[in-house]
Amino acid sequence: MSSDNDKLLEVKGLKTHFFTDEGVVKAVDGISFDLGKGEVLGLVGESGSGKSVSALSMLRLIPNPPGRIVAGEIHFNGRDLLRISEDEMRHIRGNEIAMIFQEPMTSLNPVLTVGRQVAEPLEVHQNATRSEALTRAVELLDQVHIADAGMRVHAYPHQFSGGMRQRAMIAMGMGCDPLLMIADEPTTALDVTVQTQLLDLLQELTRTTGMSLIIITHNLGVVARYADRVNVMYAGRIVESGPADDIYEDPRHPYTIGLMASVPQLDQDVRQRLVPIEGQPPDLSDLPGGCSFHPRCPYATDQCRGEAPELRADDGNDAHAWACWIDVRH
Ligand code: SF4
Repeated sequence: MSSDNDKLLEVKGLKTHFFTDEGVVKAVDGISFDLGKGEVLGLVGESGSGKSVSALSMLRLIPNPPGRIVAGEIHFNGRDLLRISEDEMRHIRGNEIAMIFQEPMTSLNPVLTVGRQVAEPLEVHQNATRSEALTRAVELLDQVHIADAGMRVHAYPHQFSGGMRQRAMIAMGMGCDPLLMIADEPTTALDVTVQTQLLDLLQELTRTTGMSLIIITHNLGVVARYADRVNVMYAGRIVESGPADDIYEDPRHPYTIGLMASVPQLDQDVRQRLVPIEGQPPDLSDLPGGCSFHPRCPYATDQCRGEAPELRADDGNDAHAWACWIDVRH
């Protein structure tokens, strides 16, 4: 846990709900966590668990209607992001927090060169001239290890491989020297070797620049190797939180244990059998009573069906907490 001085981000009791004709979808329902300066945090869960909505809430990019942040505080670098003006928030999005997404082809403009797209935000946010911005774009492409950056700066996105496009997106994000980068499933569409290279790059950038990083992924095996800490999300809540090593070596929530068994690890033997978690993620507008995971949990008891467990810390290790009525090790 980081001290107050080392904290970059502090999320308290965040709730983001979507008000639809079918009912209130509680996409994020009361999450709290900290992120230290230079720290790498993994937000892990199946699709629909609330991890991407949590990130979009931090950037105040929830479409309203139907979405709304209905409760909570998001303190970032000394400001509560839910209480500042839209102008201030736009400044933060362009200069202090960068976000990269899973499929760079949908974020890159196919008719502009990669260099132009890396350079343009520098002109807008940092008042660079066109030629200064292009020079900086070459440096940024070099920083993300795109070979022959001076030549490649003139290429179009379709002339790049998937991995290179994602590197170009990271270069765009790095242009503003962000304090925080949020990478939403940054490697999911790529093969394992390219995934590893990109995650190595993101880790290297946090070490060389001191920026913090949030990696959003469904793959617990991926973040366990790269994150300092992990928050596992299910049905809009954090169900397990702790140092990545603790969660990888000794997962305590049945959902976390299921996630570990259901996804390939980067260093796993490809012949090893994957075991999917039984059942489907719950309908967030009609959550089951008690522990939301109980319809899928092999350990569920009557208590689980009646009462929702709160996050509680491990005896003797308050950095590791989980929300479950039972101790699956016994
Ligand atoms: Fe399973 Fe019960 Fe723990 Fe929920 S509280 S994860 S249903 S054992």
